[in-house]
Amino acid sequence: METLNPDVVIIGSGVGGGTIARQLAGTGARILILERGDFLPEEPQNADAEAVFVQARYKTTEEYQDPTGRRYRPGQYYYVGGHTKFYGTAMFRFRESDFRGREDGTAPAWPISYGDLAPFYAEAERIFGVRGQAGHDPTDPPRDAYPHPPIPHEPVIARMADALRRQGLRPFHMPSAVDYGPGGSCRRCGTCDAFICRFGAKGDGETRLIRPVLNHPDVTLWTNARVTRLIAGEGGRITAVELQRGDQRLRVSARTFVLSAGAINSALILLRSADAAHPQGLANRSGVVGRHLMNHHLTGLMGLMPGRNDTKFPKTLSVNDFYHGLPQDSGARGNIQMLGKIQGPMIRAAYPVMPRPLANLLARHSVDWLCMSEDLPNRDSRVTALHDGGVRIDYRPGARPAHDRFVRHVRTRLRRIFPLVLRHDFGIEAPSHQCGTVRMGQDPDSSALNAMCRAHDHPNLYVVDAGFFPSSAALNPALTVCAQALRVGAHLRDAWRHDQTAP
Ligand SMILES: Cc1cc2nc3c(=O)[nH]c(=O)nc-3n(C[C@H](O)[C@H](O)[C@H](O)COP(=O)(O)OP(=O)(O)OC[C@H]3O[C@@H](n4cnc5c(N)ncnc54)[C@H](O)[C@@H]3O)c2cc1C
Repeated sequence: METLNPDVVIIGSGVGGGTIARQLAGTGARILILERGDFLPEEPQNADAEAVFVQARYKTTEEYQDPTGRRYRPGQYYYVGGHTKFYGTAMFRFRESDFRGREDGTAPAWPISYGDLAPFYAEAERIFGVRGQAGHDPTDPPRDAYPHPPIPHEPVIARMADALRRQGLRPFHMPSAVDYGPGGSCRRCGTCDAFICRFGAKGDGETRLIRPVLNHPDVTLWTNARVTRLIAGEGGRITAVELQRGDQRLRVSARTFVLSAGAINSALILLRSADAAHPQGLANRSGVVGRHLMNHHLTGLMGLMPGRNDTKFPKTLSVNDFYHGLPQDSGARGNIQMLGKIQGPMIRAAYPVMPRPLANLLARHSVDWLCMSEDLPNRDSRVTALHDGGVRIDYRPGARPAHDRFVRHVRTRLRRIFPLVLRHDFGIEAPSHQCGTVRMGQDPDSSALNAMCRAHDHPNLYVVDAGFFPSSAALNPALTVCAQALRVGAHLRDAWRHDQTAP
């Protein structure tokens, strides 16, 4: 059996965990990363939409249940690099107003401001190789130039940008973490969003965070190591983590623990770690752990054009003119961006009764848009660890009618471009933008973590994944997870260098 005495245990190798590892590598701290999944295998199915969507080859086989008891296989992916292995590479900074919360109190203020995160956003963009064009998004917060120029539009997308401009809108190049351009490894293969990149061109957690630290002698990664609970000792200090690795049940001690298992799994681990001193679970004196589950309101709109759409990488265009509301309806708001190119099997995965030729026909002629609105935090929207080991997801998204009004408006505009616009709503079965379940805040009575993602109740426990979000904004989450993880990691690194002890 391997023996090692890590100073820091990081649970999960996604954006949150990988970024912390990157910050601590080289400080002299011995780091152990525990990842329940394995490296994704390179195989022909990586780029096969039938395998990825219809056969759900890479999705977890575990089941969740909804409040009615209906069981389903959630869109959770457990691999080194976490969900970014499949993500769509849209790398947005949240807006300044997102950190201030909503005036009507429906979304709380964050305990940090945009200014606190701005230097870390810049670093996160460098690490992920984000391409974009500053100064064109009307809602952009203060920022310098992107590390790389934007990815050019393909012809159909350029026509879309022109058509939207004619409607008086201000479309802009979407910031994207793809290694595209002279010398870059992107081949515009056509399988990107929701697929694994076969060429290492997608800026994901494995390529940008984990691979670079694995050469370091003080960093160890255990794959297929599923953490089941944390053990708390005197003064609330976490003393050890329990895990299952193959047939073995193991316990590993350390001085500092960073929980980065993703919003749903981090909450589950904390809830399942309940003991006599912490009957509601760890970090949960406030009772918020597992609550305020958010996932964004996500609606796909397929504009059907008479000709074929042969675009390979459509995710170069976005519109934020309605980020702060429609002119006559400030509640109806959100971001518009392109989806990855839809293929027939993706449609059949969502609508199994649709005949294959029809699905393929629709996919050939569609231009695919995503409308994203903020999902307001609701205390009753929650993840529950059931006594029999199961998981219940009681998802209650906030402000749904406002999202519907926003989508109706966008659809009306798209109808000026396309003869037919079809709608598809994404639900919590695909918790791709899951967040908020271990929220940070100033007040220990209403939050689990402080502004540095440290548990109010445990001096050596940090929770660093999308679970820390107090609100969801209406933009893709990964860059914000990375920026805050860089900030927390810098704090941990300074503490280590100062004391030669993990805090
Ligand atoms: C199809 C898809 C498209 C997306 N597109 C975008 C996009 O374009 N832009 C964007 O910003 N975001 C996008 N997202 C969301 C983005 O990928 C996530 O917000 C981000 O990866 C979350 O990072 P995380 O560190 O919070 O958690 P995760 O990425 O979930 O990482 C958690 C890690 O912990 C591991 N783990 C879980 N439980 C345990 C356990 N018990 N023990 C040990 N390890 C455990 C997991 O295997 C995983 O590696 C997309 C997501 C999906 C699924």
